[in-house]
This record gives sequence, C-alpha cells and structure tokens, in this order.
Amino acid sequence: MPGKINTNSNVYGKAGKRIAEMLKEAGIEISDQGKTLVSFSHDKSYIMPVKPIAVAFPKNKGQVATILRICNKNRMKVTAVGGGSSLTGSSIPLSGGIAISMERMNRIIEINIEDGFARAEPNVTIEELNKKLERYGYFYPPDPASAHMATIGGSISTNAGGLKALMYGSTKHWVLDTELVLASGEIIRTGSSTLKMSRGYDLTALVCGSEGTLGIVTQATLKIAKKPESSGITISYFNSIKDLAEAVGDLKKHGMPLIMAEFMDRASLLEFMHARRKMAPKNANYVLLTSVSSTDKNDAIAKSCVKAIRKHKPVKQEYIRKDNEIKRIYSARRELHEKMVEEAHMEGKDIIIGDVIVPPSRLAPALLEIEREIKHSGQRVALFGHIGDGNIHSNVYFTPIDKNGIRKVMKLQESIGRIALKNNGSVSAEHGIGLEKKGLLIEELRSKDSERILGIMKEIKKAFDPNGILNPGKIFNL
Ligand SMILES: Cc1cc2nc3c(=O)[nH]c(=O)nc-3n(C[C@H](O)[C@H](O)[C@H](O)COP(=O)(O)OP(=O)(O)OC[C@H]3O[C@@H](n4cnc5c(N)ncnc54)[C@H](O)[C@@H]3O)c2cc1C
Repeated sequence: MPGKINTNSNVYGKAGKRIAEMLKEAGIEISDQGKTLVSFSHDKSYIMPVKPIAVAFPKNKGQVATILRICNKNRMKVTAVGGGSSLTGSSIPLSGGIAISMERMNRIIEINIEDGFARAEPNVTIEELNKKLERYGYFYPPDPASAHMATIGGSISTNAGGLKALMYGSTKHWVLDTELVLASGEIIRTGSSTLKMSRGYDLTALVCGSEGTLGIVTQATLKIAKKPESSGITISYFNSIKDLAEAVGDLKKHGMPLIMAEFMDRASLLEFMHARRKMAPKNANYVLLTSVSSTDKNDAIAKSCVKAIRKHKPVKQEYIRKDNEIKRIYSARRELHEKMVEEAHMEGKDIIIGDVIVPPSRLAPALLEIEREIKHSGQRVALFGHIGDGNIHSNVYFTPIDKNGIRKVMKLQESIGRIALKNNGSVSAEHGIGLEKKGLLIEELRSKDSERILGIMKEIKKAFDPNGILNPGKIFNL
C-alpha cells in the first residue's frame, strides 16, 4: 500500500524536462504521463513513493547506453526498474530522476543444454524462464516466492534467494556472465559462457546484489540445472518452535538432501491452511514443510526424513505425494505474503516484512529470542521463512494512519536484526539493503570489525559510476 507520493521530488524542474526531450529526440520511448509516473514511484516496500520526472523504455542495449551517456553528461540520476517487487525500497527512484523500465527487453535469447546455460534479456521473469526450460527437463534454481514478478535483471541486482536456496544457493551461484552498461554508456561483459572462470576479480559476483548502483544489466547468461526427481512434501506440525528448529538441525546433521525446508508460525499456518482449504490441527503452533531430492521410486529418503522428524515430537505429520496437491502446497506457500498483505489492507492495515539469517545451528536460540522480543513489543507478527538455511521473515502489521506505526515496526525489525547479529547471522539474507537497512548494514559491519568495507564499497561505486548517477542513496549514502 504505497503511502503519500513525495511530490517534492522534481528537483530537476526544467532541466529534467529538457533531458527527457533529448532522450525522445534520440529515438527512445519516454513517458511523463501522470499514471505512468505514479506506477514507477513505488515498489512493494512500505517506503514513501517518489515520482520520477519521466520513464524511459529502452528496447536494446544501444538505447540503454544512449540514455546513460546523456544522463551522465547532464548529471541526471537514473534508476533501473524490473518487476518492481523489491521489499526494501531499492527500485524507488529516490532522487526523482529518470526511471528506466526494462520491460521492452524481455526475450529469452538462447537455451544451450550442451553448455548448460540460458541467456536472457533482463525483463524475463524467473517464472517465464522456467516455463521455457521445463520443455527440456531443466530449470533455473533461484526461486523467490515472487518468481512471477521478479525479473532476471532485478533478481541479479538483489541476489535473490528463495525456497530452493537451501540446496542450490542464491542467485550469485547461477550467474555466469552479465552484459552491463556502465554510467558512461560503455558496455562490458563481466564473465563468460563457461562453467568456470578464474581471471582475477569476479565482477559478475560484484554485480549480484549491487541493486543497480554499478551498471544496468542488459543481458545475462545463467547456469541451469536438470530438474531433480523430487519426492513428495512432508508436512510436520509442532507445538514448540524449539522442537521444530531441532528437527531441522537433525535433518542437516544427517546430511538429508533437502531441496526445501520452510517453516511457519500459527498465524502463517492458518493462512496457509486456508489456501489449502483445510483445518490446522488444534495444538499446532508451527509447521515445517520439507522435500528431498530423490530418484528412488519407493521414496526411501523421504521416508527416512519423515522418521527423523518424528523423533522431535510433531503433533501430526502428513506425507503428500499427489502432484496436484504438491502444486497447491507450493503455491499456498509462495502466495503467503501477498495474501497476508491483501487481507491486512482489507482491515486498513499493512505489513512490513523483515529478512534476517543465522547459521542453522543458531536457529533454536535465535527464534526463541525473536519470539520473546515480539511478545515484549506487543505487536502483531506472523513469522515464516526458509528455515533450512536459517532465513527468518517477520511480517509485522501496522496501521498506516498511526503516525508512530512505522517507527514501532522498524524498531522491532531492528531488534530482530540485532538478534541475528548476536547469533553470528546477517541483517539481510535475500531482500538486499535498499533504503531500509542502511543503518543495520553499518551495525553489521561494525559488529564484524569491518566498517572499512563501507569505504571500499564507495570506492568501487566511484570506479563504476564516478558521477553517482546510478540509483543513488541505495545500500549506503555517498
Ligand atoms: C510477494 C513477494 C515475495 C517475495 N519473496 C522473495 C523470496 O522468497 N526471496 C527473495 O530473495 N526475494 C523475495 N522477494 C523480493 C523481490 O521479489 C526480489 O528482490 C526480486 O529479486 C526483485 O526483482 P524485480 O525484478 O522485481 O526487481 P526490482 O524491484 O524492479 O528492482 C530491484 C533492484 O534491482 C535493480 N534493477 C532492476 N533491474 C535491473 C537491471 N536490469 N540492471 C540493474 N539493476 C536492476 C533496481 O534498480 C533495484 O535496485 C519477494 C517480494 C514479494 C513482493
């Protein structure tokens, strides 16, 4: 629910309009229609929207290069926008400059099974790419719950994770090469189409998670994987979070080939069961969803996983094998946050989602402490997360008309971030820093005696973008 739009954003006034005219004259599609500016003023975060002066719709890398060359010369700020599904404000054109929509660049260029990669333009969504790969029995493993909105360019820029990161890692593990337009308009390739490369500094890895501050991705070469013959999904309901976290620890200790291990608290569980049109068991306060990678027709590994979990006193267990039901469970889990937000809106409320991570061995103490902190704050919270890799999302409800509402939520989210740090974790697992976590990033670096990293990041930014035109104000202040 985007708040009031910041109308003081047009600091560029006439100069901005002149640059938009120059871009039009260079053959680039530009819109300054009110409706378009509003739709590019916000992302999926709670952060105050800011209208850009204009939105550019380049069709190819040449047009992206022209936009950046003209904007750089005129010191005009730009923000690349993919699916606009960022949860940290990273795709809000904070400076009120020009938003560059990647939506005309949406082709899958090549699927190369022999060499193990797919090559695509930045606005292809993860879901679209996977639909195409399915025909070959392959898939692209980074799997954010927002795969229907998240684009290749946007998910590289936030280093997205998701449900299968437990087995496959996050986006940075799957990007072989990016075609990157620098602020100057120069075009570089950061990697190669090979599965390995060792030729000095890894600029491809640097682009992953850079939130559009180093360059604009106009094409990416992505590693792909053969689809595993996964077995069914085990649903284990628990009374205590400690038992659930210990069950996850046990599965990991036994080296179970887990593709996914997701958890939900009672509030999230009720929403999940509603989507499945089923009742939650009465004394189930938490639920654990697991699936394992297996080619065994008798599901021997999945069954030993069910058995290992049973030792931790679940109040009930289900093993789902039917394809239709498995699909329904995946979509109920994927849609959880969106459904919660929809329902919160109907009550005149909104939700801010947090994203922290701890090493799996620290899950039990971290979750207990987070629950204590939530209770102490008196706020309404629904917890879920990719628990297999230690990733916890806290959905905190607030009333937008309450002036102190957001401040109270942020205070709680910061406390949860500090609990993650205390447990050797990080303040951001997969949503990035954006505008939301700049303070927490500094706290994290300080806690690791590594504040110098901030200076190094700023020097890197300067090497790529000396005039600071690319998505300014995100990750850190210059
Ligand atoms: C319902 C919901 C569920 C979600 N679940 C997950 C989840 O499970 N895991 C997860 O990791 N995230 C999740 N997210 C967060 C979000 O979807 C991801 O951050 C996603 O990767 C962003 O992709 P996008 O295309 O929407 O990027 P945008 O929001 O458009 O942009 C994100 C950042 O990338 C930059 N950018 C966009 N395109 C380019 C480009 N071509 N070149 C350079 N920079 C670019 C933008 O400037 C911005 O800084 C979820 C979000 C929602 C709304």
